[in-house]
Amino acid sequence: MIDSAALGARLTSVRDRIAAAASRAGRDPASVHLVAVSKTYSPDFVRAAAHFGQIDFGENKVQEGLSKQEATGDVPLRWHLIGHLQSNKARKAVGFSVIHSIDDAGLLRKVDEAAQLAGKTVDVLIQVDLAGEPTKHGARPEDLPPILEAANRCQSARLTGLMLLPPAVQDPDAVRPYFAKLRNIRERCLGEVARPAMLTELSMGMSHDFEVAVEEGATLVRVGSAIFGSRPPRTP
Ligand SMILES: *Cc1c(COP(=O)(O)O)cnc(C)c1O
Repeated sequence: MIDSAALGARLTSVRDRIAAAASRAGRDPASVHLVAVSKTYSPDFVRAAAHFGQIDFGENKVQEGLSKQEATGDVPLRWHLIGHLQSNKARKAVGFSVIHSIDDAGLLRKVDEAAQLAGKTVDVLIQVDLAGEPTKHGARPEDLPPILEAANRCQSARLTGLMLLPPAVQDPDAVRPYFAKLRNIRERCLGEVARPAMLTELSMGMSHDFEVAVEEGATLVRVGSAIFGSRPPRTP
């Protein structure tokens, strides 16, 4: 059984902390949207959070996300794909409203084609890799121009911003420079190829560091365990 009241209390606490962080930074709290990361949690957890007014949900695997969408299809929700996307899954990925993990121009074109075929539009963000870790996906900052140019030619995929998955460090303040750097990269891209509407969103911040991310300009924070409780390990 889900302790729905406890989940609601955690959700409220995360919302309050986002609003407080925004106020500290002189930002409008309404400019920050919370994506509840429901990966590994059953559809009942999604329903419980939706009951407390949560609309945006994030999943890092295409198939798991689509199954959960189907299981909660009677509730109007917005689904975000936040995990790595292989280009052979582009067609399925356009079942999400927002894809945060575009990291190459070819993948973007595939998503655009798939969205056109499906007769829908999908919002996309470019995942940026600032640490150069071999295990991480994402485009290096120097690889952004060709992706931005491809975005200019898309019909059904609408570029809305940049996403960051920083190195996993425990101290949130150690991540602050990465958040600030993503914001600076956005400014630089705006001065070059990108139209302003292409880069309004900064998707950054997770359970342990979302307040710092909001202070540094996040407009989408992806928070899982602080809402749903610590995650059960995946069965392989
Ligand atoms: C799991 C995940 C999150 C949320 O992580 P929590 O620590 O549970 O808040 C955010 N972003 C991505 C890309 C994830 O895979």
